[in-house]
Amino acid sequence: MTDGSDTLQDIDKTDRHFLHPWQDVVSIGEDDWTVLETSSGIYVKDVEGNKLIDGPGGMWCVNVGHGRREIIDAVTKQISELSYFSPWSMAASVTTQLAERIAGIAPGDLNNVFFTTGGSTAVDSALRFVFFYNNCLGRPDKKQIIARVNGYHGSTYLSSSVSGKEREKANMDMLPNLVHFVSSPKPKDRAKGLSLEAFCDEKIAELEAKILEVGADKIGAFIAEPIMGSGGVVVPPKGYFKRCHALCKKHDILFIADEVVTSFGRLGHYFASEDVFGVVPDMITTAKGLTSGYLPMGALLISDRLMEDISQTSNEPRGFTSGFTYSGHPVSAACAMANIDIFENDNLLEHVREVAPYFADAMNSLSDLPEVTDIRVMGLMAGIECELDASTPDEDRDCAFTLKVDAICQDLGLLVRPIYNACVMSPPLTITKPEIDKMVSILRAGIVQAAKG
Ligand code: PMP
Repeated sequence: MTDGSDTLQDIDKTDRHFLHPWQDVVSIGEDDWTVLETSSGIYVKDVEGNKLIDGPGGMWCVNVGHGRREIIDAVTKQISELSYFSPWSMAASVTTQLAERIAGIAPGDLNNVFFTTGGSTAVDSALRFVFFYNNCLGRPDKKQIIARVNGYHGSTYLSSSVSGKEREKANMDMLPNLVHFVSSPKPKDRAKGLSLEAFCDEKIAELEAKILEVGADKIGAFIAEPIMGSGGVVVPPKGYFKRCHALCKKHDILFIADEVVTSFGRLGHYFASEDVFGVVPDMITTAKGLTSGYLPMGALLISDRLMEDISQTSNEPRGFTSGFTYSGHPVSAACAMANIDIFENDNLLEHVREVAPYFADAMNSLSDLPEVTDIRVMGLMAGIECELDASTPDEDRDCAFTLKVDAICQDLGLLVRPIYNACVMSPPLTITKPEIDKMVSILRAGIVQAAKG
């Protein structure tokens, strides 16, 4: 309880009772938070009336932009007509239609949609499906998972266990004896003089060595984001994702593409696995852009092949005993339907493909700044790495500089997402070329000013 003496403004700013994700618990009540009040298009407005470009698009999720009337209306209508149904025993037409629509835009035979409450629970469900699948197939030992250093897959026990960000594991317990990590395919980390092709060969050789070391008969799945998002926007060398997939196929290992960030337009396609990287995974996880962050929802897409494999093992029912009270929630489903309508009506995927080269050029224009040592861009996601001390390994580097950039940029009208030593940008996909110019010029000013101390 508060003692009642705080002003509303004080409570807003210091947030005594809201334990934020990743918050330092020692400083609860002491931090000075930016408190947002309204949002529209690519902008958010704080309680002091400052209008800021939403550079990170919320948390990579506000894909169609803020304040879309179509979504507000669809959600309002749905909540008035049917606010809930029990998904384990019933269906709702809006959720059924959404599942059909997602299957229609998904790659290959990924025709089975299992709805979740967000990205972590989609990843959790994918991993549980791997266990279920191999149990049904009579291979109870084939359940180990291969994941990657600096990959991020969520904050449930299982999804965090396959996440490879060392700093996030501090003071946390992870599921033991389940996950084997291979290194991140971050080109900047390659040995001096090594070509990108040779670097890619190295990563593939490492993955195969790991498979052989653990034993393919023990490994259930490999999980990877097409582009590592929270790992700092890591764009792998050409052919990497496809070759990982081929290796998994060769060794009968399921391939899970975590597209929580890269789906729904971030790379100019509904799903990047097939259209950008030429891969039809066994499972895809999605969330964020599915509802553009207006309401929580995620989904796990499962291939027909896996369902058929299971049904061929027995004529007995094989219940996937997993699910959530809010699986396929009708209001979230109506939100997702209206969101996809916007993609179609506004030709949003085409728009992203059109502005992406401009966005990349704008980001690359920052390369003349001495602090900027690596620029990683694909579609409408970018990581601008700022090197302060070249000898500090990534894992140990804190966000001191990029937090400073964010603070300065906020004063100048732009939100930045600091991840380690990278300023990460993933704006609403509706962003225009003049807005990209504005965003990058503020980011430039922020980096220059932060470097002055
Ligand atoms: N997978 C990836 C690739 C993500 O980036 C995230 C969230 N940033 C998640 C999973 C977890 O999603 P959520 O926060 O919705 O649980």
